Amino acid sequence: MSSIVAVGSLAFDSIETPFGSVGKILGGSANHFSISASYFSPVRCISVVGEDYPQDHLEYLKSRKVDISGVKISKGKTFHWSGKYDYELHEATTLETHLNVFEHFSPEVPESYKDSEFLFLGNIFPALQEDVLNKLPKTKFAAIDTMNFWIQSQKEALLKVISKVNCLIINEGELRQLTQTHNVVKAASMIQNVGPELIVVKRGEYGALLFDKGETFSLPGLPLSEVKDPTGAGDSFAGGFMGYLAAQGQSTPTHAALRNAVVYGSVMASFIVEDFGCNQLLRISRDKIEQRFKQFRDLTFFH
Ligand code: AMP
Repeated sequence: MSSIVAVGSLAFDSIETPFGSVGKILGGSANHFSISASYFSPVRCISVVGEDYPQDHLEYLKSRKVDISGVKISKGKTFHWSGKYDYELHEATTLETHLNVFEHFSPEVPESYKDSEFLFLGNIFPALQEDVLNKLPKTKFAAIDTMNFWIQSQKEALLKVISKVNCLIINEGELRQLTQTHNVVKAASMIQNVGPELIVVKRGEYGALLFDKGETFSLPGLPLSEVKDPTGAGDSFAGGFMGYLAAQGQSTPTHAALRNAVVYGSVMASFIVEDFGCNQLLRISRDKIEQRFKQFRDLTFFH
């Protein structure tokens, strides 16, 4: 089993959906990713928090095989994101982004992280993503996620780091925005021409698509009777996807392993949307994960 280095935000989130609203709950790409991936493999987290971040949550992450020696506690306030979803629950509208301690953050990669072969560059400043990638030369499999905020404001820097990774994990709408192309097949191929051989397109309740060189895999979303908040679905998807590959030790994954990884990613995303923030991810177990994996198999089986 290999460890995954993950860089991203540790945040307070304030979220409004048609099913309720919450203020300043624990969120951030590195938080959702790390908890999700830790059900499969050890995670080594790189991030920054302010002095207002709850110490007991850092202790919780430690208790889940998440190494936090790369998490800096800086003077100032923790990153705070506020977002809103309409009835479609498809894409978040960002209401406010307070970068706070992220504004002057320069990631330090602990020596103990440097033998990692798996790297997840979670949603954060593209320049920070590239910095971490450059500081981990033993990486064999690097995946990157991003969002509309960075596509709008840092497109060039983002494309530069995307060109250096193996896999881009991105929302359908954001892939269209990034490539200025409506057709997802064409858009994926445009990004493959820039560098990453693998493109995973997240399609919310409609599932996910995997473009792997010549082969394509399409998985539907699991029909769920309870959906409250899609925040973190992308990061927990990435956690299941990367966590499964790292647990297999497959830094050059076969197409079959990648398909399973997409299913595990979708399983983890299906949990997080059932409640606000990361609440549901804290309640599950490996058995529940395997039960949902089987539900996906039953859902997609036909003669
Ligand atoms: P997702 O998995 O795509 O729903 O990402 C949700 C998480 O992204 C939330 O918990 C936010 O704290 C975090 N987030 C939102 N905007 C940004 C940003 N500009 N940079 C880094 N993280 C962000």
